[in-house]
Amino acid sequence: MPEATKQQLQTLQQALQEVGLHRRINTDPALLALYDHDVFFQAAHRPLAVLQPRRCDEIGPLVTCAGGSELSIEVRAGGLSYSGGYLPQNATSVILDVSLLNGIDYAHQTTDIVVVEAGATWQQLDDFLHGSGMRPALSAPFSGSVSTIGGAIRQGLPADMHAVLALEIIAADGTVFHTGSLATDALSCSAWRGQGPDLTGLFIGDCGALGILGRAWIKLEPQPLHRRFFACAVNAPDEYLSLLEALAPLPGNYRAYCFDPGRSKNLQTQGFWQQLRTGARVLLGKSNPLQTVQSAGQMFRTLLQWRDTALSGTWGVHVICESHCRQEANALERRAADTAASRGFRRLTTSVAEVLNTRPYSVRGMLGRRYERWLPAHGIFPLAARRKLGATLLKALDDIRRRLGPERVECHMLLINAGRHHVLIEPMFLWDGELYPLHLKHCPQAEQKSPPANHPVSDTEIWEARKDLVALMDSLGAQHVQLGRSYEYLSRLNPVTRRLIRQLKRGVDPGNTLAPGILGLTTKEDA
Ligand SMILES: Cc1cc2nc3c(=O)[nH]c(=O)nc-3n(C[C@H](O)[C@H](O)[C@H](O)COP(=O)(O)OP(=O)(O)OC[C@H]3O[C@@H](n4cnc5c(N)ncnc54)[C@H](O)[C@@H]3O)c2cc1C
Repeated sequence: MPEATKQQLQTLQQALQEVGLHRRINTDPALLALYDHDVFFQAAHRPLAVLQPRRCDEIGPLVTCAGGSELSIEVRAGGLSYSGGYLPQNATSVILDVSLLNGIDYAHQTTDIVVVEAGATWQQLDDFLHGSGMRPALSAPFSGSVSTIGGAIRQGLPADMHAVLALEIIAADGTVFHTGSLATDALSCSAWRGQGPDLTGLFIGDCGALGILGRAWIKLEPQPLHRRFFACAVNAPDEYLSLLEALAPLPGNYRAYCFDPGRSKNLQTQGFWQQLRTGARVLLGKSNPLQTVQSAGQMFRTLLQWRDTALSGTWGVHVICESHCRQEANALERRAADTAASRGFRRLTTSVAEVLNTRPYSVRGMLGRRYERWLPAHGIFPLAARRKLGATLLKALDDIRRRLGPERVECHMLLINAGRHHVLIEPMFLWDGELYPLHLKHCPQAEQKSPPANHPVSDTEIWEARKDLVALMDSLGAQHVQLGRSYEYLSRLNPVTRRLIRQLKRGVDPGNTLAPGILGLTTKEDA
């Protein structure tokens, strides 16, 4: 380590000593090695140290000490992103690890708003709400057993972000401020986002460029009283999009997933015991013995369906319809069924939809069935733009597969509705690559994997292929969440908006201390 860098680290340690936080710095080489990569990217620089606050009010002083030592700060929560969002960009970076901040409580005098600390996971929130009849009014990612609500807020989710009511933000100089209605009165977080410009929105999807999240106030909603499930097989993703268009005008909520013929990747990568547990959760959720027996029968038929060769080239569509009103839930299911019947889509059993409804968190999907590496890319498109969208992307994916060699890379595609009028399309690559400590930490069974075969495809080739695909999606009008350092943002803005974002960053982080380079804000001049 260069002498000047050593000096900076010592300055940090001294500053922490002075504020009584010297136990919050960790320089264990194994931890630094675990934190120098995410699910896909390997950082060019290892962090100098990891700062681990144990209370939210420690974030401010830790940030002040690191900034005062002229160190860059990256924030890591669950660490399960693949956008390079928390990786050091220079040799003088520390990582602020918020994963120990797991507190969850109801907001002052309410039972329909929770306050979650930056490291609280979706699973912890589900456990907290267990038996209350309530759930967060935004959908959790599949990675929710490890990934955090804070991480999802900072990266953005494709829908439901109106459920984030207020935020506690720590600025680059260590000062703490609140957004939403908390900006005026720290006791009154109403279910309304607050007066004046929407400051909460500024810190959603900014990937940590504008400040550090300490706590978030999240709206809850009652579990819907009525649910219906529907599933069918379609021949191509564009047929699924036509089903979404048919559902969009109806009241009630729905989540509709479409998996390519490679089948439900997530469910099939789960181990036997995990599948059994998930199945048991579905059955235990049934309100009477008849439903339990019917559901068990469906599961058995689903297993048979997976072996049905007539379905082997088809895409599985799995829809969860929800409402507090029985008629609305029924109407959604009926509309899906009528649309499928009129277009000749074959009905499937609904077990997969029922399983998806139990929020089957699993991080096993970060690797393929044979522990291949995995990298998805996504685009969010308006349904109105759907003409041949699926076919165009499938062709591009096929070209990539041919270019890289079908024996070296597997390509898949997953689609999910993003609210009522948008769809998220997620092509993904699987290849036989080197595994990192993060993969082995979360999938220890992958230790048994044999080393990559001869001439494996390299991460660089995968990255180039992904870039081509994202450029194509962008040319078709895609928008993205999880921007981090892996999607174009700044360069896609028109010049006036670009200037505004730069001024904003400069205003809140004049030294470009926080996550330099994130969102394309690369230099001090940007900041
Ligand atoms: C198997 C698997 C399944 C997945 N499924 C989904 C899915 O269904 N839907 C989906 O959207 N994503 C999914 N993801 C991607 C990822 O898990 C999510 O995007 C998740 O929300 C990231 O949260 P995290 O806590 O891991 O954040 P991290 O990876 O730790 O951080 C993400 C970004 O947010 C910033 N950040 C985090 N916390 C803070 C904070 N307190 N202050 C400032 N900045 C902060 C980081 O700097 C980084 O830029 C999946 C990933 C895996 C591996």
